[in-house]
Amino acid sequence: MKQFERTLLTTAFASAVALAAGHSSAQETSFLTIGTGGPTGVYFVVGNSVCRMVHKEAAEGRAEGRKHGLRCSAPSTAGSTYNIGQICAGELDFGVAQSDWQFHAYNGSAPDRVSPCPDLRAVFSVHPEPYQIVAAEGSGIQSWQDLKGKRFNIGNPGSGQRGTTEELMGGHGWTTADFAVATELTSTEQANALCDGNIDAFGYTVGVPNAGVAVATDGCGAYIVDLSDDPVAQKLVEENDYYAFATIPEGTYTSTDSDVTTFGVKATFVTSANVPEDVVYEVTRAVFENLDDFRSLHPAFANLKPEEMIADALSAPIHPGAQKYYDEKGW
Ligand code: GLU
Repeated sequence: MKQFERTLLTTAFASAVALAAGHSSAQETSFLTIGTGGPTGVYFVVGNSVCRMVHKEAAEGRAEGRKHGLRCSAPSTAGSTYNIGQICAGELDFGVAQSDWQFHAYNGSAPDRVSPCPDLRAVFSVHPEPYQIVAAEGSGIQSWQDLKGKRFNIGNPGSGQRGTTEELMGGHGWTTADFAVATELTSTEQANALCDGNIDAFGYTVGVPNAGVAVATDGCGAYIVDLSDDPVAQKLVEENDYYAFATIPEGTYTSTDSDVTTFGVKATFVTSANVPEDVVYEVTRAVFENLDDFRSLHPAFANLKPEEMIADALSAPIHPGAQKYYDEKGW
């Protein structure tokens, strides 16, 4: 943890220096930091894939005389709500965040779960993220109600799943006292804790497939709980555009012997209104000019389509730098 904090402070410091230096132009060398999630999650792949495309464009651009000086890093972080808070504090330049937390941060509608952030700006949306209750083999958990009196990982503070779990708890009228134990493990810790018998289930909002979920499912027989009949999930989907039902297909993990339906969000790529237009333009351009490469970097990205990425699940205004690129493309 200490090492993690140090890394984060160093990168945040580099980023703060870049911002303090005015971030004046994408042509000068400036350092971008993208907030991601746990090292076994999909956000970590999103952030590092964006950086890879930014560096690729810089290198190829140099050869063609179309040069930008952006350098990019995408460290592991606590997740969605942490990223949004740090973007708004000017400590991170970009971040990945769940569509529910993008909505609530921009609108200030859940101040106890995510810092209100009127300067938050959308860049594009990425992959779908179903909310998954992963339950231990033999735990008997088949619904939210079955979690009563169980040892459940509600997720680390700063993660998107922590907030979404709290939405479900609130909807069911539950508090942490309804669980035997409510742990706050990170996404990287939770699968091993489950396989070691230290928790009965965890809640995780993450792209499919995910290596962390596979540790629990393929590794020790855990399974994903179907939430299609859950009245709170139904109400959340009915009342909010940023939630939708999603299906995890049969065969995704060894324990997925039939389709599993649950509700979920979309991962979105966000920034601040204070990040200069040309910087956001170059990052956006790097991703979309190399979308085939980007899609090949994780199976969850395989079906990304520009028309959906620039329209779906974005509730904050689109940053003018991204809009400039979309206008150029006539999208
Ligand atoms: N949805 C999770 C969060 O918002 C992160 C999932 C991932 O790391 O891919 O914190």
